Amino acid sequence: MNQASNTQGITGTTAYNPPSRQEAMGYICADCGAKNEIRAREPIRCRECGHRIMYKKRTTRMVQFEAR
Ligand SMILES: [Zn+2]
Repeated sequence: MNQASNTQGITGTTAYNPPSRQEAMGYICADCGAKNEIRAREPIRCRECGHRIMYKKRTTRMVQFEAR
């Protein structure tokens, strides 16, 4: 929660630091539309109908590339 200062590239040890938090991501079942919270290590599968195709909710920011 302390993201006030984005210290990027100060340590210089890792150029790319992925935010790997163990938070449950929200997924929407493609078949029945049920909301599922699936963690990173868990297989993606609907708890309601068992469907394996899930849409990822936009919990994080949208990834935008500035192309100009
Ligand atoms: Zn489902």
